[in-house]
Amino acid sequence: MTNCGLAGLLLRVSTGYTSITSRPLRPRSRKRFNSSFSSVVCSAQQTSEQLLVVVGGGAAGIYASIKAKEVAPHLSVLVIEKAKLLSKVKISGGGRCNVTNGNFLDKIVLSENYPRGNKELRGSFFDVHGPQDTMRWFSDQGVELKTEEDGRVFPVSNSSTTIVDCLLQEARRRGVMLQVGKIVSDASCKNDGKFVLKVEKRTIDFVEYVEANYVLIATGSSQQGYKIAVQLGHSLVDPMPSLFTFKIDNKELASLSGVTFSKIRAKLALDNVQRNIPQLTQVGPMLVTHWGLSGPVILRLSAWGARHLFVSSYTGMLFVDFTPDINIEDVKRRLFQHKDQFLKQKAGNSFPSEFGLMKRFWKFLLEHEAINGDNLWASISNNSINSVALLLKQFPFKIMGKGQFKDEFVTAGGVPLSEISLNTMESRIRNNLFFAGEVLNIDGITGGFNFQNAWSGGYIAGTNIGERASYHHLKMEAL
Ligand SMILES: Cc1cc2nc3c(=O)[nH]c(=O)nc-3n(C[C@H](O)[C@H](O)[C@H](O)COP(=O)(O)OP(=O)(O)OC[C@H]3O[C@@H](n4cnc5c(N)ncnc54)[C@H](O)[C@@H]3O)c2cc1C
Repeated sequence: MTNCGLAGLLLRVSTGYTSITSRPLRPRSRKRFNSSFSSVVCSAQQTSEQLLVVVGGGAAGIYASIKAKEVAPHLSVLVIEKAKLLSKVKISGGGRCNVTNGNFLDKIVLSENYPRGNKELRGSFFDVHGPQDTMRWFSDQGVELKTEEDGRVFPVSNSSTTIVDCLLQEARRRGVMLQVGKIVSDASCKNDGKFVLKVEKRTIDFVEYVEANYVLIATGSSQQGYKIAVQLGHSLVDPMPSLFTFKIDNKELASLSGVTFSKIRAKLALDNVQRNIPQLTQVGPMLVTHWGLSGPVILRLSAWGARHLFVSSYTGMLFVDFTPDINIEDVKRRLFQHKDQFLKQKAGNSFPSEFGLMKRFWKFLLEHEAINGDNLWASISNNSINSVALLLKQFPFKIMGKGQFKDEFVTAGGVPLSEISLNTMESRIRNNLFFAGEVLNIDGITGGFNFQNAWSGGYIAGTNIGERASYHHLKMEAL
């Protein structure tokens, strides 16, 4: 171990990680970072041991660190997390953590659940580690999982803590070093190919410089993560939100707050989208909230339309078909039959049951057409019936903004996939630099697809770093 002065001593005492040695910062690096704080470089021993620094202790970072340690037990693996480890896993899925999707889709179909990444993920990405492998991994760790009807996979405990505990226990068991409350604020590369990371503590004036052989950037959607990627030579696709609800300009809609529709077809029409994009029409459940529309269909549209919606400042039209399985002619025919059958009943009190609508919504429809629900069916004109039929098939909602739905929110954009080899998750720009998770320009729709991206990317990165470190280890031993 080299002499590393007081700062280095403090670092060793406070971390207790004896596999890390420290030495003073070389003048060149000191100038680069221009730090007024105490500084120290820490690195793995200059023998055969190498150091992987994982920036970000989220799903991708922790999964990757476990895999790297499994493949290369002699590799020092240090995870640096600025806040709490696995904090998003903890709050995910409403506290239940939707781990992955168990529909076991063919990889082509699986990749279609990723508005950003759908073409690139058709390759080997999910072959190497797909949803089935994720489920096997967790059950091998003793976590019981269940698959719900729609394919979403949760722990049987219905608690994300089960997933957090499992990952952290396994990371610790394998000897992954976990440091929290430290932020990697800058990164550079030395002439010998090693990385120097500037690590700061938020609460106190403290800076250290960590020298690493391998770096995995698994920083999710954090600005610092993007900054480090750019410092190391990468470009960025502008990050922007995906998976959000729509604010709707319709005061009467608030009266329907809480109403759910099990199956509607919704089409997003935006001024800046001229061609017909199939994904901007979605079928499935929808929910009315007190400020607009939510539910799986809306979240999917927000994901596929994320860029277009951003450009149009989250304004546009949404056309909803409330009877997607009944064509317009049949809807009209049924309404006229209903009128003939129930001439003496109030229009607001009865409607064809096969439409599967709630009475509250039916009244909302009539009011929209200025039809008094207390009027008898006999008094409803044919024109009004035709208009109600049209509304049922194509109700126009004016989108006036983005809601603050917090159940699942993800960032579109990040490091472009053209700059990464998805076979290894290594940068095509810099050797020994890896990426995994949401920091990349990959995002999925709801249903466990975003975590699956983190698990798959983390697994591939961890495996490849581990293999490279093992090769190095063998080479050093042979010397
Ligand atoms: C409320 C909510 C619920 C969700 N529920 C689900 C769900 O049920 N299923 C699903 O599939 N997806 C869900 N998602 C999406 C999912 O959480 C993310 O896609 C996933 O967490 C991405 O994993 P990651 O490891 O890439 O990034 P993250 O989980 O965001 O982890 C990145 C970590 O890096 C740390 N970090 C960032 N920059 C630095 C730095 N410079 N130095 C040190 N540390 C740094 C961050 O603090 C963070 O802990 C949900 C998202 C939200 C917000």
